[in-house]
Amino acid sequence: MEKTYDIIIVGGGPAGMFAAFYASLRNMRVLLLEALTDLGGQIQTLYPDKKIWDVAGVPGISGRGLVEQLQEQLSKFPVDVRTEAKVSDIAWQNDQWQLTVNEGEALYQGRSVILATGKGAFEPRRLQIENEKELEGRGLSYFAPDLSIYRGKKVAVLGGGDAAVDLATQLDGIAAETYLIHRRNQFRALEQAVLGLEKTDVIKKTPLKVAKAVLQEDQQLRLTLEHVKDKSQVEDLLVDQLLVQYGFLTKGQADMGWQVDLDWDAQGIVVEDHIKTKQDRLFAIGDVSSYPGHADLIATGFGQAPAAVNAAIAAIDPGQGGPGHSSSMNID
Ligand SMILES: Cc1cc2nc3c(=O)[nH]c(=O)nc-3n(C[C@H](O)[C@H](O)[C@H](O)COP(=O)(O)OP(=O)(O)OC[C@H]3O[C@@H](n4cnc5c(N)ncnc54)[C@H](O)[C@@H]3O)c2cc1C
Repeated sequence: MEKTYDIIIVGGGPAGMFAAFYASLRNMRVLLLEALTDLGGQIQTLYPDKKIWDVAGVPGISGRGLVEQLQEQLSKFPVDVRTEAKVSDIAWQNDQWQLTVNEGEALYQGRSVILATGKGAFEPRRLQIENEKELEGRGLSYFAPDLSIYRGKKVAVLGGGDAAVDLATQLDGIAAETYLIHRRNQFRALEQAVLGLEKTDVIKKTPLKVAKAVLQEDQQLRLTLEHVKDKSQVEDLLVDQLLVQYGFLTKGQADMGWQVDLDWDAQGIVVEDHIKTKQDRLFAIGDVSSYPGHADLIATGFGQAPAAVNAAIAAIDPGQGGPGHSSSMNID
């Protein structure tokens, strides 16, 4: 017989990971479903090397470090976690929520569901050159989860916002040579970040764009950089790696294709009391939830997670006692 979970959490970002831990702390049968290969959400995918300063009790930690701490906390209990499991449908059937994963590859039943899907699946803004697809993974990349692989290499970062400026600054001292290519002479990053860049040996190439990239036999990329206003001004640059940092697009969440009827607005799923959707036993937390004054912060999801779990328990099992305090539990 198929297992029915007490609480299924959709989305393995910080809000979903903490909700999964808290639900298992409360002795629930929990399943955590994440579309990507790794847990961690935006922190893991978009800014693993940035320092986060506004999580209570944590005086500065890298994105990767925070995800590791969340993983460690989650592993205190036997939570079922499925990665590369994108929830493609949610429907209410036979008195429980039925979740379809990867268009029918798997089905899961839950007595309650907590949506923690953030801003949806991430899609990098792509470099507009003809052979972009062919080069991706062969010298051209949109993600830089591990900077150590660029040690001693010639790396070009493309873009002028925070992500590009921060990445180029971090690569200085790791890569043999770091270039920052931007179509304007000014960078759009925070002042502090631009000041930090000025103190590095990063070589700025502006106002230029990458018009062409050719993979050579020695696996280096020959970039043709073109002046944005005068196409006749071109120069070649040979690099081992091109890291495009044009930012990310998120697919509108409302077109997830789910059968369940929910109220969406520009920010996400409209919730009452910060967590309850219009459907019974279905909650939304973190960046996907929308209510007046909602802030897209890690701390917001951390606060909503216990509230949603406790509300889910009260809905599926009204006889259960209240949450109690973890300090009175013997967990080690
Ligand atoms: C560059 C940058 C810097 C930031 N800095 C800070 C900071 O310093 N402090 C701070 O508090 N906040 C910061 N934030 C915001 C913070 O990262 C978000 O508020 C936080 O990640 C939201 O967590 P979440 O769990 O709600 O969603 P997310 O982190 O977005 O995670 C959602 C997860 O759900 C998964 N998912 C989506 N759809 C499905 C589906 N259908 N099926 C299965 N899985 C699905 C996604 O793959 C993702 O892993 C920053 C954000 C960015 C982009």
